[in-house]
Amino acid sequence: MLIFERDIAIDLGTSNLLIYVRGKGISLREPSIVAVDKYTGRLLKVGQEAQKMLGRTPANIVAIHPIQSGVISDYDMTAAMLHEMLGRITSFSLFKPRVLVTVPSSITGVEERNVIDAVIEAGARKVYLVESAVATAAGAGVDISRPDGHMVIDIGGGTTEIAVVSLGGVVECKSIKVAGDAFDEAIIRYVRRKHNVLIGKRTAEEVKISIGCLVQRPEVGMEEVRGRDILTGLPKSVRLTSTELIEAIREPATAILEAVHMVLEETPPELASDVAQNGILMSGGGSLIYGFDTVVQKDTGIPTVVVEDAISCTAFGGGKMLLNLDDMQDGMVNLARKRQLKGN
Ligand code: ADP
Ligand code: MG
Repeated sequence: MLIFERDIAIDLGTSNLLIYVRGKGISLREPSIVAVDKYTGRLLKVGQEAQKMLGRTPANIVAIHPIQSGVISDYDMTAAMLHEMLGRITSFSLFKPRVLVTVPSSITGVEERNVIDAVIEAGARKVYLVESAVATAAGAGVDISRPDGHMVIDIGGGTTEIAVVSLGGVVECKSIKVAGDAFDEAIIRYVRRKHNVLIGKRTAEEVKISIGCLVQRPEVGMEEVRGRDILTGLPKSVRLTSTELIEAIREPATAILEAVHMVLEETPPELASDVAQNGILMSGGGSLIYGFDTVVQKDTGIPTVVVEDAISCTAFGGGKMLLNLDDMQDGMVNLARKRQLKGN
């Protein structure tokens, strides 16, 4: 048992960091945020506790998202955050784990190196990189070793990655910086334009989750939000409906649909017909917006489903892939090999 527990999989998301422990399952799911003292540079809190401090702290405490678009933007903070989170999985105190990390297909060589170094610094013995889209497909129950095309649309916080996977690798992919955050921003713009009220990011995210939708909900949702009247500068509440939100978030949704089309157009015909047959898988927190799968299906004519547990699916698939760790090589090799495959 202990030997199994030495292998773990990490989904280093921009919004959420998840850790899967072999033999145990998903053991940690925390916002990838650190709270730092601006003057001393000292790390104060990570994850949930850091998030709780947001907006309620003295000016010297700032919150940092050390991961941006799935790659490291603040190396030291990422290493520190990982170190602290790995430390919570106590059985690793004696043995250094082998760590599989899921990374975006668009990652550069330098960024790969950074991920490997940060994870080693945080306490790993060896680091294995796999493309997140492949892990997501595995997590959704696809047999990724077969030469059979599947499309995965992963809508995270900062980026949406659209990929066609086959034979354990990514064949075609596109990554755009329109994802969960862009929906929040679209809601903020809408409320300012239509109601002359400025609302905060947290509020926008809350209404997106509670009443956001891309097709009409069976029952119209309503939510009262508080913000600042941009004409008087005073606090003001407005009542938003789910019907309004369809209009508010149409733009980022359309951008994602366009990117899906581009990937489908660039996919080799045989794989495209596989995708048409196998259907499209949607994952990531952003895919949970009510009706997103319906619009993708309507727009592409391809059956589309949101995977079970959309936020944890990638980490879960990474966890499944731990079973093959002995056949994989650590370092940057796995991704490089897959890129070569693409060239064939
Ligand atoms: P990442 O992979 O970038 O860490 P996640 O897959 O964890 O991102 O998704 C985070 C995004 O999902 C955020 O923008 C968040 O607002 C959004 N999200 C989470 N739950 C829901 C929900 N139920 N409905 C709509 N959006 C959601
Ligand atoms: Mg993700």
